[in-house]
Amino acid sequence: MDHKKATTAPLTADSGTLTPAGAEAAPLADSGGDVPDGDGYFSSYENFEVHRLMVCDKPRTEAYRSAILGSAEVFKDKVVLDIGAGTGVLSLFAAQAGARRVYAVEASAFHVLARRTAEQNGLADRIRVVHGRVEDVQLPEKVDVIVSEWMGFYLLHESMLDSVIVGRDRFLKPDGLMFPDVARLYACPSTLDSFYCEQLACWRRPYELDMSPVAEAARLSMQSAPQVLQTHPEELLAEPELVHELYLQYVSAEELETLSCRRFVTVTRSGPYRGLCLWFSCQFPGGGGALDTGPRAPVTHWKQTAVVLPTDYPLQADEVVGFELTLCRAPDQPRRYSLALAMLDDDEPHPVPCSCAVGRCRLIKALMDQEDAELERHLGRTLRYRRVHIAGDGGGIFQKGRAVVSRAPLPE
Ligand code: SAH
Repeated sequence: MDHKKATTAPLTADSGTLTPAGAEAAPLADSGGDVPDGDGYFSSYENFEVHRLMVCDKPRTEAYRSAILGSAEVFKDKVVLDIGAGTGVLSLFAAQAGARRVYAVEASAFHVLARRTAEQNGLADRIRVVHGRVEDVQLPEKVDVIVSEWMGFYLLHESMLDSVIVGRDRFLKPDGLMFPDVARLYACPSTLDSFYCEQLACWRRPYELDMSPVAEAARLSMQSAPQVLQTHPEELLAEPELVHELYLQYVSAEELETLSCRRFVTVTRSGPYRGLCLWFSCQFPGGGGALDTGPRAPVTHWKQTAVVLPTDYPLQADEVVGFELTLCRAPDQPRRYSLALAMLDDDEPHPVPCSCAVGRCRLIKALMDQEDAELERHLGRTLRYRRVHIAGDGGGIFQKGRAVVSRAPLPE
């Protein structure tokens, strides 16, 4: 989901609405009701453009479709809960996959349309649309499977995952399945070339005028909030790093308050380091495919999100660059996160394992990979989850909504 999906505008700290600019909300007859919507979140979903962007985002919707239809044995005769059904598209897939009953819970007025699409597709006998928040609704039974598209920019924007967790704890049977069941957040230093060209090139002596004050102010404004943009693979300065991995069956809301990681990566191509690019992928149970929103995958409406640095840091191939990334839920706006980026000196403790090229890290990683391989041989299958990174201690500097450089700049 995402108007997050809908907008390429910066996620400013005070942007009260997530509705894309120019897309007027078109309330349905049954709008609102008694669903609490203090922050206007649900009414922001009463917008056809938002749902068009989601449903017509092929990599997104096809990933769910093939995961659900490709797992007919999981869905056949089972009870399914679709958290945040919207137009009902995922409920329809679940019913097509053979679900005996689908509870399509939707808090916005789009529940009306979810009901109509179920009827129109001849699946109304199996899809029961429930209007309300998953936190409040009552269902007559526990469910075998939960499907939900809850992901926002940089995975966590909008905090819909909190609702999915509540829904899971209220309704999922102990051995039930989550679709998707793993979500991964990746980060990579980037030149952000195309974004920079687009946003700043025009201020470089237009009409032979010196517009540098505007250029400087524009650059500063990019730092003040995460930027949603499409990165090209050649703009990546290193191999992407997995920075967080969430197992949807187990993750708790407390874990989502603050997520912090430190990483060191080896630069694979020389270029100006202008910001850290973030994106996510999701995995479905039983090898049912994946959804990848990274720069090397087909473009999705999520694009990528960048935390922009205050100045360019020229990097040379083969040098090691460290960063600490902190995502912290904004106390006054729980559907938003502050993202803080700190650059780290190379002599600070590296995590274990670490994928950088420093000899010690390579040795430790090789040993751990060997252990994993032995474990896989012993189990007779590949390990489903990657080993958890153990971060070294030492606090990074955190500043709300800003990219900050906490230490001396990297040597040139
Ligand atoms: N499943 C649809 C829509 C995803 S967008 C699709 O894949 O296209 C997320 C939807 O979840 C929105 O329609 C929003 O109104 C709804 N939603 C978000 N939080 C919710 C909650 N706590 N309870 C019920 N619906 C919720």
